[in-house]
Amino acid sequence: MRRKIIAGNWKRNVKPSVTADLVKAVAEATKGFTNVEVVCCTPAIDVPAAVAAAAGTNVGVGAENCHWKESGAYTGEISTGMLLDAGAKYVIIGHSERRQYFGETDETVNLRARAAIAAGLTAIVCVGETDEEREAGKLVEVIERQMNVGLKDVTAADCAKLVIAYEPVWAIGTGKTATPDQAQEVHALIRATLAKLVGAETAETVRIQYGGSMKPGNAAELLAKKDIDGGLIGGAALKAADFAGIVAATNA
Ligand code: PEP
Repeated sequence: MRRKIIAGNWKRNVKPSVTADLVKAVAEATKGFTNVEVVCCTPAIDVPAAVAAAAGTNVGVGAENCHWKESGAYTGEISTGMLLDAGAKYVIIGHSERRQYFGETDETVNLRARAAIAAGLTAIVCVGETDEEREAGKLVEVIERQMNVGLKDVTAADCAKLVIAYEPVWAIGTGKTATPDQAQEVHALIRATLAKLVGAETAETVRIQYGGSMKPGNAAELLAKKDIDGGLIGGAALKAADFAGIVAATNA
C-alpha cells in the first residue's frame, strides 16, 4: 500500500511574512487526515517560517529547488544542507517552470535529484510533456527520456526518498486537467520505466503524483486510479480550504 502524498507547490506566490498563516491554516484544515502525507513546498526564503509554523502538526515542509554542490562559489544557489539545516524534508526537482524558464535539463535534474536523496531529503522529481510533444506523438519518448536521464544512477535503495510527479505541462496553471484515464496511462508508463531502472518490486513502492490544475472537484476521480498516489498542487495550494478538499479526496 502506497501512502498518498498531497504536496503544495507555492511557486513564488507567498512572502515570508504571511507564510506562517498559510501553513497554520493548512495544518488546521487537514489535521483529521493522518493517513495522508501533507506537504507545503515553499520558496526557499519561506522555509524557516513554514517549518516553525508546522512544528507539532502533520504538515511537512519542502523547497522548490536545490543545487547539487554542498558549498562553494555558487552565488544565488541553495544547497541540500542549507535546506536540511532550515528544517525542510522535501524538495521539488525539475518542475516544468524551471525547465522552461531557467535552463533546467534532464542532466541537471539528475544531479539535483541524486544530491537531494543522498542528503536525506525526499526528492519530488517532475516529468511531463508539452502540448506540442503530445500532439506530435512524442509522449512516450519524452517521458522515457526524462525518467532515464533524470533518474540515472538512482538506486533501488534511493527510491525510499523518491516521489515522481507527472505534470503534463499543458495542464499546469491552465485549468485544463488530464482526464483520469489519460493520467493513469502515463502513470503506468512512468512506473514501467522506473521498473526497468530499479526493479519492478521497488517501482511498486514509489509514489507517483499527478499535477496540473488538480482541485477539490476533480481530485477524487484522479486519485481513484491505480497508479495515482497523490497530487502536486499549484494554484489550489494557496487556499487552505481548497488544498484540504484535495487531501480529503484521497479518502484516507
Ligand atoms: C504545479 O505548479 O506544479 C501545478 C500543478 O500547478 P496548478 O495546480 O496550478 O496547475
